[in-house]
Amino acid sequence: MRQLRRLPLTPRPINGEILSSWMARVSAVNGISIPELIEYAGGAGNSDFPPVDRDVPRPLIAGLALACSIPDYKLAEIDLRVQFPNAQASFFLPVEKMAPNCYNHSAIPIPYCHACFSEHERKGTTPFWKAEWTMAHVTRCPKHLFGLWAYCHHCLCGRLSVVAHTKHGGLVARCTSCYRAPAAHLLESAEKTFSRNQLVASMGQSLTLACRGLDPDPIWLGRINAATFLSVLDDMMWIFLDANLDRGFPLISRCAPATYYELAGIGLPFPSCPFNLLTFHHREMVIAAIAIALVGGRITVLKTCFPVPASELDAYPFSSIRRSSNQDSHSEIVDRIGRWPAPLKERALRYLPAFA
Ligand SMILES: [Zn+2]
Ligand SMILES: [Zn+2]
Repeated sequence: MRQLRRLPLTPRPINGEILSSWMARVSAVNGISIPELIEYAGGAGNSDFPPVDRDVPRPLIAGLALACSIPDYKLAEIDLRVQFPNAQASFFLPVEKMAPNCYNHSAIPIPYCHACFSEHERKGTTPFWKAEWTMAHVTRCPKHLFGLWAYCHHCLCGRLSVVAHTKHGGLVARCTSCYRAPAAHLLESAEKTFSRNQLVASMGQSLTLACRGLDPDPIWLGRINAATFLSVLDDMMWIFLDANLDRGFPLISRCAPATYYELAGIGLPFPSCPFNLLTFHHREMVIAAIAIALVGGRITVLKTCFPVPASELDAYPFSSIRRSSNQDSHSEIVDRIGRWPAPLKERALRYLPAFA
């Protein structure tokens, strides 16, 4: 076994934190950068920057455990594969390659909630990146409803890292480019009335719970287990994006819950790429469409723009699924709907145009 001297300061991982966030904190309190920590713990060369949040190499975990006097298994539990046992690889945002010798060598390229970080600083608690922020379908913080954004809102180009505060020494989040603190007041005001943002945030939260193996909120599909919820969501995403290609345009291009101006702003038609590679706005539109489709006519008050008149929400989006040139895709749509929980299945089949 390798001999590694224990680092002087060894903060413990916080429940629900990701490994790169904990490594940023360990590095900051010991006055080193994340690449230096990796080099020390993993023995990797400076040009080798292994994945640090998902499928973390075992030797790196073992080295970090030694350097911080933490049991191996405790650190291995932070791996996103372990935190989200039900999540497929495609549920996660693509891993951005971290450049070891870059000037912002301890920046975390993962979206975050500015208000959560502001709150940590105000209350004097430790800032950290939450595991769910790495997931493609989580676009908003369920507490503050702000969109999760990976860049600084002041300079729009810097990433965030954690540093020791010059006065009190406690860790705070700062932009690695302009050194300013995350500022929630620069963002759109969080919606207080029930809004699409709220719906999107709740859907992200239920998906995250399901990926952790916990049953989702019954508001969506009644009392069902996590696996059934995830499989219906997968079907809905497929129907919106891949199954109903009308001259190459996904169904979401015609059925997005957005105004004309909003859609013009984010760009149509939807890019044909896997969901986790779509932009923030495109992903949010798909999640909103799925949430509205699941709740259907039960939505009574919602401050948002629907893709169809409120009286037609029960039929959304099933009545819009048209015959495509691909017959196989239509039989698969019917097959998949056939496996859904009864209330949603009946609703979908009631409105689905006949494919005879
Ligand atoms: Zn937040
Ligand atoms: Zn900045």
